[in-house]
Amino acid sequence: MKFLLSIITFAFTCILTAQTDAEMALTTVNKNDIEGHIYFLADDVLNGRATGSPELKIAASYLANTMRGYGIKPNPATKSYYQTFNLLQTTPPNMLKVAINGDNYPHTIAVEANETELSGETVYLGFGTEDDYKGKNVKGKLIIVNGGTPESSDARAVYGAHKVKQQLAIKNGAIGMIEMTLLEEDWWSRISHLMGENVKIPDATDAEGSKNDFIHLWVNTTAEKLSAFNTSKLSYSIETDGKKEKTLVTQNVVGVLEGTDPKLKNEYIMYSAHYDHVGIGTPDAKGDSIYNGARDNAIGTTAVLSMAKNLGKYPTKRSAVFIFFTGEEKGLLGSQYYVANPLFPLKQIVYGFNTDGGGYNNTKLATVIGLNRTTAKKHIVAGAAAFGLEAIDDPAPEQGLFDRSDNVSFAKVGIPAPTYSTGFDVFDDEINKYYHQAGDEADSLDYDYLLKFYQGYVLSGRMIANDPETPFWVKGDKYEAAANILYGKVLEAPIKN
Ligand SMILES: [Zn+2]
Repeated sequence: MKFLLSIITFAFTCILTAQTDAEMALTTVNKNDIEGHIYFLADDVLNGRATGSPELKIAASYLANTMRGYGIKPNPATKSYYQTFNLLQTTPPNMLKVAINGDNYPHTIAVEANETELSGETVYLGFGTEDDYKGKNVKGKLIIVNGGTPESSDARAVYGAHKVKQQLAIKNGAIGMIEMTLLEEDWWSRISHLMGENVKIPDATDAEGSKNDFIHLWVNTTAEKLSAFNTSKLSYSIETDGKKEKTLVTQNVVGVLEGTDPKLKNEYIMYSAHYDHVGIGTPDAKGDSIYNGARDNAIGTTAVLSMAKNLGKYPTKRSAVFIFFTGEEKGLLGSQYYVANPLFPLKQIVYGFNTDGGGYNNTKLATVIGLNRTTAKKHIVAGAAAFGLEAIDDPAPEQGLFDRSDNVSFAKVGIPAPTYSTGFDVFDDEINKYYHQAGDEADSLDYDYLLKFYQGYVLSGRMIANDPETPFWVKGDKYEAAANILYGKVLEAPIKN
């Protein structure tokens, strides 16, 4: 009996070792798992997974504990799957009233404003250039200037010049500045949007106590009204509850799995996707205000989970790091934070296989943003083809998609990193119907297509991770120079004193 058993065991081992990467991808990726992940991540109870929300923390727990179930390990140094950090959220004032010479100006934007009530005489200083201050004493006063420069007063010029003007005003001792703008309504609303809610990784300038009470406003008006400022004596009043700052606590979710090859295991393939979305927004025609983000990016998140399950069962020669990023929708913040605070040296990540997408309109494709830019192209093309999909590169380079997802945070430091996305060959209404819309829900997805999409991703990843040759940028790529420095292929340029 014992003899027989060992023969069976031997035969079984042979079958296992003979199993191809494609068979491994086929056996671990199935429709039930995929649907389970996507329906949970895009569930209304997660309220659209906004960065900093308690619901995003629930999603993070789901990802961490699903990885735990697959045998993927947490960061060995902290024993935690979470890379937790703070973000600084700034929101515009709820109330901002501005009057000049007794006239109310309803179109106002706070560039800088703490809670205040101010009034008094003011000085009009043209465009607020260095010359405009000559012979004027503005110490302790609020000044009024024109937005932009003498050359241009369009929105771009207003925005482009405002920081230098603010510094000049502060240097000359002013307590505040109103810039009068002459913008058309659509430009005014664009610039209002730009100055709306902002979330960023705090830096040294955000430290407590470093802020002063300088008030800086944009007030939109007409040329006719503005021309009167030249001659008349000016008075003003401002009342506002000020811009609000709030700290958002959030987390990337990170897991690692050691490779099987004694040498290649020192190199990591990163499998990544952002798991945040835009949260709750304007209701659609049906009154739905939850932006579920099934396509963007429960789909990508599920690709990384599919890889984690596969590698937990069948590890590759190279090691794996799985990263789920927070804050992508706020400006790639999670990936930027990771690159600035890596868990192990970045040069050990030899390839980033990111996945993200706004939707699909061609279920015969996998659209891989940056496909042609790395030497791993052959594996991605073959991986997708094994499951009946054609891998194509970015069909709409004018959209700058390569630079609009988390892959670029890694590419900038030299790590070859494309973004694997669901198939699209053109930006059309089928994409716009769901992209950042409340209707981007789990029910609206084609799971037969997604099964092939995930099997293709997993097989591509396996082939990249098992290839004795380390993937790299295609010669002449704009990030090749950064890669040569990162991976020590050239010495860093000496710093000249
Ligand atoms: Zn996305």
